[in-house]
Amino acid sequence: MKKNDFITLEIEDIGVGGEGIGKAEGMTFFVKDAIVEDVIEARITKLKKSYGYARLMKVLKPSGKRKEPKCLVARQCGGCQIQEIDYSEQLKFKERKVRNNLERIGGFDRAFLGRVMEPICGMEEPFHYRNKAQYPIGTDREGYPVAGFYAGRTHQIIPNMVCALGKEINTQVLEVVLDFMREFQIPAYSEETGRGLLRHVLIRTGFHTGEIMVCLIVNGTQIPHAEELTGRLRKLPGMTSITMNINCENTNVIMGKEIRLLWGKEYITDYIGEIKYQISPLSFYQVNPVQTEVLYGLACEYAGLTGNETVWDLYCGIGTISLFLAGKAKQVYGVEIIPQAIEDARKNADINGIENAEFYAGKAEEVLPDYYRKYETEHPEEHAHADVIVVDPPRKGCDQRLLETMVRMEAKRIVYVSCDSATLARDLKYLCGNGYEMKKVRTVDMFPHTVHVETVVLLSHKSPDSHIDIKVEFGEGKGKVPLEAIAERAKKYQPKPKITYKMIQEYVEKKYGFKVHTAYIAEVKRSLGMTMYDAPNAVEELNQPRKHPLKEKVEAIKDALKYFEVI
Ligand code: SAH
Repeated sequence: MKKNDFITLEIEDIGVGGEGIGKAEGMTFFVKDAIVEDVIEARITKLKKSYGYARLMKVLKPSGKRKEPKCLVARQCGGCQIQEIDYSEQLKFKERKVRNNLERIGGFDRAFLGRVMEPICGMEEPFHYRNKAQYPIGTDREGYPVAGFYAGRTHQIIPNMVCALGKEINTQVLEVVLDFMREFQIPAYSEETGRGLLRHVLIRTGFHTGEIMVCLIVNGTQIPHAEELTGRLRKLPGMTSITMNINCENTNVIMGKEIRLLWGKEYITDYIGEIKYQISPLSFYQVNPVQTEVLYGLACEYAGLTGNETVWDLYCGIGTISLFLAGKAKQVYGVEIIPQAIEDARKNADINGIENAEFYAGKAEEVLPDYYRKYETEHPEEHAHADVIVVDPPRKGCDQRLLETMVRMEAKRIVYVSCDSATLARDLKYLCGNGYEMKKVRTVDMFPHTVHVETVVLLSHKSPDSHIDIKVEFGEGKGKVPLEAIAERAKKYQPKPKITYKMIQEYVEKKYGFKVHTAYIAEVKRSLGMTMYDAPNAVEELNQPRKHPLKEKVEAIKDALKYFEVI
């Protein structure tokens, strides 16, 4: 077997990138565009020791899961990876991918996952769902301007003005722009030479408002005959904002920093649920508005808000989840690394008259631990408090420092929104090994025809003070249960309960009327040569050690340890 050989494969599985997986002569092959149950002819493009890559040449026997793609360039274009798979099969694939990661990486039991996983939320109409498109502009062999999308992993433009995922209006916008370029001989930018003017066309649509934004990204500071272009674009229904963005760098970053208004407003407006947003060309905004509402609705349901809660929304972006939850919570704190996004979040809170949402610019793994440390220093006997913590990190997942603080804060519920189920599984393993329990998992298909999927998970704190009420009549006499006998028997059968730091704290507070810090309990245990039970909320060392050890607290802790028969 060697490179360029033709092989016949039966596709048995689907890889994480959507590629088909089949075996030939004991070797595993990955084949883009081949789908499960296809029998195909493929040409080997790369060979390793036990696996290789091959190019789909011919489908010999098509799979029942195969579907005629809506888009004519579905195979060449890098935007979609699995458009040729029937949509209901795409959903099964995504659900399976999440389940497998939770099982393999997270270490969760399959039967348990079967109980906590709710069915995936797919789209009723999985086309034309994107509210944003960024078309690169190039030049074809005849020298005419073209618009389209890049082929997978390259910057080769596949001309296409009727993307099956974008809004129909995009085609009309591009036609106007390309006609204008031809007529006025406006050159497209070339990445090779760094010359030419028009680089990209960004189009955004407000699904609820119908407002349209066009932003022309240019390698220069002016567009010749710009009024002619805006005059034509304005005729399109819904046109609200026409701007240009200056990007003269030789880079593959699409947008530059400076925006200039050409016509209309600098932003468009749209809604997610009841919340109104002003979206400028540079703002981050979820691209699938229909499923975003489903996703945030789930996050809200999982958060279980009644109006009295303090909520932290970490990795909050422009505050979309924070604002969505603010109406049902007492107070929301959002944390996000990009200062510009935090400005947007504050502005969005303002235009919606939301006063119980505060935003901090910074790293989640620094802002929350700092807050926690400061709080515990200022209120040494109390616990920094959060009822619900929502996290929605980028693909790499949550930073370990953040996870540790979350565990220490003992929020009643954690809602984890994730765009990468592998790092999600890794983080859940940690959280569930440190005091949390997974209650619900649900995947939401935000990006039909691509391999991406979002997942929402509800974790609840395994509080040691949960109890059961049973009504029994105790005492002497018929039908009554003699108390002592019961106590004796119960003692015999009862497994020794885990004595938590919280139980010790509660005992001390009840008996002595003061609070003791977990770090103190740890100190006393350590001084007694005892093994440390890794309670999730245990602080092993005080950040600011107290100067005088408080003897009465040490004694009270020892008393509690005796009471619970730990010593
Ligand atoms: N929750 C938002 C955005 C989630 S995307 C929404 O639904 O719209 C993840 C966000 O995390 C991005 O906005 C990114 O800028 C931000 N981010 C990345 N690393 C971060 C960090 N270390 N601390 C805080 N925010 C971070």
